[in-house]
Amino acid sequence: MPTAEEFQQLLRGADLRVTRPRVAVLTAVHEHPHADTDSIIRAVRGNLPDVSHQAVYDSLNTLTAAGLVRRIQPSGSVARYESRVGDNHHHVVCRSCGVIADVDCAVGDAPCLTPDDNSLLEGFVLDEAEVIYWGLCPDCSTAQVSRSQP
Ligand SMILES: [Zn+2]
Ligand SMILES: [Zn+2]
Repeated sequence: MPTAEEFQQLLRGADLRVTRPRVAVLTAVHEHPHADTDSIIRAVRGNLPDVSHQAVYDSLNTLTAAGLVRRIQPSGSVARYESRVGDNHHHVVCRSCGVIADVDCAVGDAPCLTPDDNSLLEGFVLDEAEVIYWGLCPDCSTAQVSRSQP
């Protein structure tokens, strides 16, 4: 877990002004990977009780645009945020409870899924492939098995 000082350096390194909401939002995203906006607001208020919703939204947008935070949005889910950026990892989402976990790159470096037929992509320079694996997490699949075995 980086220190507040290191978060400030991250912000400066991205040419962002250091503000208390930004540092608090960065901290919350580090502490709660794949958290949604509401959970981040709750976590930020633990450190900064009088922060407004708008300040948290603005900080999330600024940090996402600067590449310090990554936004993921599985279909049917609200946006989630994480601080693990720049490695093009993927996510697995449980269809039942919505829990999200990281999946390392499928094959080698980004974009780790090289399309078979490249003619359609002529002129494009690929840098990322975003994959979401859907299924049931261990808890939910265990629950399903025990339900079907009375
Ligand atoms: Zn689940
Ligand atoms: Zn992730």
